[in-house]
Amino acid sequence: MTELLQIQERKATHEDERRWHERATAAFSHQGTRLLQSRWWPGIIQVPTLLVFLVIFYAAFFGPADPRRNFATVLSWIVWWPLLAVTYFVFGRIWCAACPMITIGDFLQKHFSLRWKAPNFLKKRYLGAVVLLLAILYQAWVEEVTGASYSPMVTGLILLSFTAGAVMSDLLFERHVWCRYLCPLGAWIGVFSMSSIMEVRADKRVCESAKCKGIYCYSGRDGQRGCAWINTPRTMTSNRYCSICGDCFKACPHGSLSLRLRPPTKEVEFSRKENFEDAMSGVAAIGVVAFQGLVMLDFWHFVRSEWKDTALFGSSPLVYGTAIVGMVLASMGLFFLAALVHSRITGEPIRQNLSLFGFTFLPLVLMSHISHNLGMMTHQTHLILPAVAGLVGYQIEPDHLSTLLSPGAWHILHASIILVGTAMTLWLIARICRVKREGGCPRYASLPYVGLAVAYTIAFFLILHPDMLLRV
Ligand code: SF4
Ligand code: SF4
Ligand code: SF4
Repeated sequence: MTELLQIQERKATHEDERRWHERATAAFSHQGTRLLQSRWWPGIIQVPTLLVFLVIFYAAFFGPADPRRNFATVLSWIVWWPLLAVTYFVFGRIWCAACPMITIGDFLQKHFSLRWKAPNFLKKRYLGAVVLLLAILYQAWVEEVTGASYSPMVTGLILLSFTAGAVMSDLLFERHVWCRYLCPLGAWIGVFSMSSIMEVRADKRVCESAKCKGIYCYSGRDGQRGCAWINTPRTMTSNRYCSICGDCFKACPHGSLSLRLRPPTKEVEFSRKENFEDAMSGVAAIGVVAFQGLVMLDFWHFVRSEWKDTALFGSSPLVYGTAIVGMVLASMGLFFLAALVHSRITGEPIRQNLSLFGFTFLPLVLMSHISHNLGMMTHQTHLILPAVAGLVGYQIEPDHLSTLLSPGAWHILHASIILVGTAMTLWLIARICRVKREGGCPRYASLPYVGLAVAYTIAFFLILHPDMLLRV
């Protein structure tokens, strides 16, 4: 009898928790949706970001040459880049709603654009995936080859080149062709935003019951444009190309769209469509993050200085190009090996396995990327105040100020963040394998992927060690 009471009590507690969670999620969704419907959105984040961006440009080209005292390098590499990584997880691609590069492009598009359609070759799935992959590799490569974080001028030139791409594209084409198909930064953000805890989605029941023929969320209505990102929000199932700009909310006359909270593993878990090309970009991200860590290690700089007279190590473009391609091929090779063993066990086609598991490592990579960049930030927060003071002509000595976290505290945080990513990746592998088990797949078939997740975790612990070289 006592046991029965205890079970009932536990059930009641679970029920209370579920109701509380539903209420909290509904409250968030309600407020988030109202914000995105508001005419102030996204202007409220675009204006301050644009102002800061203009100051960065000024500092990059007219500020001090010392990167540790320059507002452009300190803000871009010590503040913005690490915080940007955190936004992928929390807000998805929200940076793209605030992005000053496209804010400028948008303004010019309204008045001067030729409004051509996007070229058809970019819409081909295979080619689009290759272009985005090359854009991701280019971004990581160009940062290292030019030593962007050590040079205010190069930081400014890189930002200027991305802005030029966005502006040119908006002047020639309709909608955001640059952002959707070409932007190196956007390609990077898009992959990680698939592991975000927020999503914009339409309620298909509302669309159907309203018998909405206009698909205004895509085409626009009464002067309100539809999705500039070339999504059809009614059927959208991925965050990858959604900037949370809110245009579709304002264009939809039936209130079908909402901003929702979700588990960060949801998109990968439920998108069971075979999409080999896209899945490979998730695997390539592993290699790129490993590359970013590798080239900051003392070991890398030691090898480069020892072999600086050889043809490969003497040329920065060549050695960084070889390293990034090598890391990406290594991550793909290991993944292919795990998929091959899995296919041998299950008898399923290898391409299907590559597509199904390609994004399962995304949470681990994202968390490692966040951890690595937050480490850089906490090691150099003492540069922020002098850089801001430098803008108005004051000089503060950076070395006299302390860092944000003690080394011990940072090591614990660093390990915890990576382990959260590992746990999410293992969860995803387990969930996908559980569905397969219902079709007769043996339990141990997941072992190759589990082994790979453990190997990547160890590698990220070693490569993304917080005691590495400082970024600026
Ligand atoms: S895709 Fe690139 S240019 Fe477009 S909004 Fe995002 S960061 Fe800015
Ligand atoms: S405009 Fe609204 S109701 Fe119509 S298809 Fe789009 S989301 Fe659905
Ligand atoms: S679906 Fe398109 S219009 Fe709607 S929030 Fe996302 S990017 Fe903006």
